[in-house]
Amino acid sequence: NGLFFGSRYESTAAASDSSATPPAESYEYQAEVSRLLDLIVNSLYSNKEVFLRELISNASDALDKLRFLSVTEPELLKDAVDLDIRIQTDKDNGIVTIIDTGIGMTRQELVDCLGTIAQSGTAKFLKALKDSKDAVGDNNLIGQFGVGFYSAFLVSDKVVVSSKSPKSDKQYVWEGEANSSSYTIREETDPEKLIPRGTRLTLYLKRDDKGFAHPERVEKLVKNYSQFVSFPIYTWQEKG
Ligand code: ADP
Ligand code: MG
Repeated sequence: NGLFFGSRYESTAAASDSSATPPAESYEYQAEVSRLLDLIVNSLYSNKEVFLRELISNASDALDKLRFLSVTEPELLKDAVDLDIRIQTDKDNGIVTIIDTGIGMTRQELVDCLGTIAQSGTAKFLKALKDSKDAVGDNNLIGQFGVGFYSAFLVSDKVVVSSKSPKSDKQYVWEGEANSSSYTIREETDPEKLIPRGTRLTLYLKRDDKGFAHPERVEKLVKNYSQFVSFPIYTWQEKG
């Protein structure tokens, strides 16, 4: 788990540093990511619930990074919010939202982390896939290696990541859809969605996976994973 990946990866979009609120910009995924997303979206992998473990583990990593950096940079904690993970379920609309108060991502980090193969596990997955002659071997491979953030697309038609890094004054929104080879990034302008620090990840569940927005289901899954997470995880329901 690197902290961030600088300019090691190229984005296909031109950098924009206009000071006026810029419109959403569209980016193509790195080719390997497109391939991976294709596999995930079309896979018959049945153990879809792993998505929650992956996303909770990312939230926990982000909180760890913040806690670690704050030892030498205590001002990172100036937005006095607790270090925790909140999971909101909206079963009527089939939406799950995971919010952490961790290190967040800058605009560039959203591109580097969520548009390229950043993590070694995913790289290994693709290598194993290449080596396996069986094109549908992905079903076992997904479970074996895990596909990190992209596992959100096991259950979601659309994923929205709104993130605020202490390194940036602005909060940015990454938005990706299943079956699309591109994603967008824009500035967060909805005052209700602004957070002091960290990441809010919203999953718009696929029709057949809306059951994951039931609070009992989420609570049960969280109970299984939370024992390994050193930050509190709260779950709550959207009022009907
Ligand atoms: P890994 O966790 O193995 O690095 P993932 O695909 O799960 O791979 O995540 C890719 C990267 O995206 C992470 O390394 C991290 O930099 C970034 N990321 C994902 N989720 C979050 C989050 N909630 N907060 C901050 N950064 C995140
Ligand atoms: Mg991860």
